[in-house]
Amino acid sequence: MSSEAGRESLRVVVIGAGMAGMLSAIRLKESGYKNIKVFEKADRVGGTWRENTYPGLTCDVPSHAYTYSFEPNPDWSHIMPPGAEIQSYFEMVSRKYGILPLIEFNQEIVSCAYRDGVWQLATKSGQKTTADIVIAATGVLHVPRYPHIPGIDDFEGALFHTSRWDHQVPLDGMRIGVIGTGSTGVQIVSALCKRASKLLHFQRTPQWIMPIENRPFTEAEKEAFRSDYALLKYMQNEPEYLANVERFTNAIVNPESPEMAEIEATVLHNLEANVTDPALREKLRPNYRAACKRLIFSPDFYHAVQQPAVEVITDKISAIEAKGVRTADGKLHELDVIALATGFHADRFMRPMNIVGRGGIALNDFWADRPKAHLAISMPDFPNFFMLNGPNGPVGNFSLIDIAEQQWHYIDQLLEQIASGKCREVCVKKQALEDFDAARIDAAKKTIFGSGCQSWYLDDNGVPATWPWTQQHFIDEMSEPKFEDYELI
Ligand code: NAP
Repeated sequence: MSSEAGRESLRVVVIGAGMAGMLSAIRLKESGYKNIKVFEKADRVGGTWRENTYPGLTCDVPSHAYTYSFEPNPDWSHIMPPGAEIQSYFEMVSRKYGILPLIEFNQEIVSCAYRDGVWQLATKSGQKTTADIVIAATGVLHVPRYPHIPGIDDFEGALFHTSRWDHQVPLDGMRIGVIGTGSTGVQIVSALCKRASKLLHFQRTPQWIMPIENRPFTEAEKEAFRSDYALLKYMQNEPEYLANVERFTNAIVNPESPEMAEIEATVLHNLEANVTDPALREKLRPNYRAACKRLIFSPDFYHAVQQPAVEVITDKISAIEAKGVRTADGKLHELDVIALATGFHADRFMRPMNIVGRGGIALNDFWADRPKAHLAISMPDFPNFFMLNGPNGPVGNFSLIDIAEQQWHYIDQLLEQIASGKCREVCVKKQALEDFDAARIDAAKKTIFGSGCQSWYLDDNGVPATWPWTQQHFIDEMSEPKFEDYELI
């Protein structure tokens, strides 16, 4: 069979129409695959940028780096892109690249089982489909983590998770509580500090804050990006940003490196120089190393928490009551709105979908100890099933779009084995995954993420679940699969 004929006949299902699912659909279409279906549980593309709409939502990766390589965007308004602009960008791309007809919206895949050499999928509404290849592009942080706080259902005001923001609820002049000090909580506090009559930031653990500049692009700059394609491409791969990414990943991998010392000095100086009240400064001072939790980049958080309406509350939350939040010191903090910036279940990936591989092995059993996949992409006994941004990938402080594109480059080469008729089934060998996983865990324990703090990077055993090597190592791995690591049947 020629590759071309293979691409025409193979049935490919992509799960999810967020950034990575859209990328898959675009690339598959360009490569000549004719039988592509994308299933999307919601009614629009965009994934995380569709679901997160909270005030202040901004990506902390520079705008021009946070774009598909094939669709640079001269119109970004700011150095860091606002969430709504990113959503519009993805919607524009979905139209421009003609992938909307491939997407079945409002169709959530609930089961995906490998039987008789094909994947059989079913949606919540009962639609069934058969695929030769499945691409799971279901994202990482999409299942909200609700805190177990006594009385949480008793609150009489508005209470919601930040990824389920209720835009009907007025904010101006309101008494607002934000629970959580991750990237989300910090951005919300920065956005609402002058809108709320009272803004209480409930902090269980303080965060190190890396200062960043986030100014608007001038009209002249945008015009230059529009008229000079080489400049626009340069902005996408801006040397200073790339150097920062390299420095940052080197720092993560080697906590004793000069790069990490530089990060530590910068965040410490940010705290010391920009928080004037010594008592507040001590409240905001973490007792663990910078970048152990996912480092927060903010141009204005310290400014925000020093606004008159804002108070950082460090007393433990003991309950939520009808009128507000009660803390362990016995005080009731009366509120109109509570935003739960309490993060996500980062170990879910495709789940709760019921996925069953070759020989009846359930993904839930395969992942009973922890989510794992060879190079974040392939699993033994799950043939022709490939993940974008799967477990153990380099999810960190840099462009996930770039990471997904590199992963696609790798997956495409695996697909080619099937399309060209060299084999019918591709999945990583058990031993290759075991070797990868052992080396990964060994390296992960030595990264900054394993230096002694709680974070969503850690698995249930307290081991960092992320990519523990440098960005360059990832780029090298993604350049070409080592086919000897794969079962090609
Ligand atoms: P997160 O980093 O997991 O932070 C959750 C926060 O909630 C933590 O401060 C946690 O405290 C607190 N918390 C959880 N349960 C609590 C409870 N029962 N009582 C009090 N506090 C509680 O979640 P996130 O801020 O949503 O961010 C998740 C990730 O999304 C980020 O790390 C980032 O990767 C991504 N994100 C990116 C951007 C961006 O600009 N690119 C923006 C937003 C989010 P502890 O620290 O004590 O556990």
